[in-house]
Amino acid sequence: MQQKEFLARLDQKRIVDAITEAESRTSGEIRVHVQPKAGDDIRNVAERTFERLGMTKTNLRNGVLLFIASEENRFVILGDKGIDESVPAGFWDEIAAKLTIRFKAGEFTEGIIAALTAAGEQLRTYFPHEADDVDELPNEVSIDE
Ligand code: CA
Ligand code: CA
Repeated sequence: MQQKEFLARLDQKRIVDAITEAESRTSGEIRVHVQPKAGDDIRNVAERTFERLGMTKTNLRNGVLLFIASEENRFVILGDKGIDESVPAGFWDEIAAKLTIRFKAGEFTEGIIAALTAAGEQLRTYFPHEADDVDELPNEVSIDE
């Protein structure tokens, strides 16, 4: 699928709303990034994107990135080191497995929203929302053409 078509099928407003909602329950900062391709080492490309988007600069190092290579129908979920140090191994596996199924079914918006909601639910245990919470990273979907 061309990225143009992927984006046309993506309801960005609902995704942003889901991020805002998830971030009302956790201090974790969630972002979604879409680009056409990532190539063989998608994790490495996602990690560089994570840095480029300033996601390593959160106070608690608890940013989460859903990185999507739209034309390869692939994605990676990456958490910053504050999360890795706190949560059990395989923390994202179930969310990723479910999202893989939704992607195969072409249910992009619904699948992403479910993943973001689940990520927020999981994160709140380790990173509860604080009264003085700051929105450290924009909730808008990041898109590279
Ligand atoms: Ca926040
Ligand atoms: Ca945010």
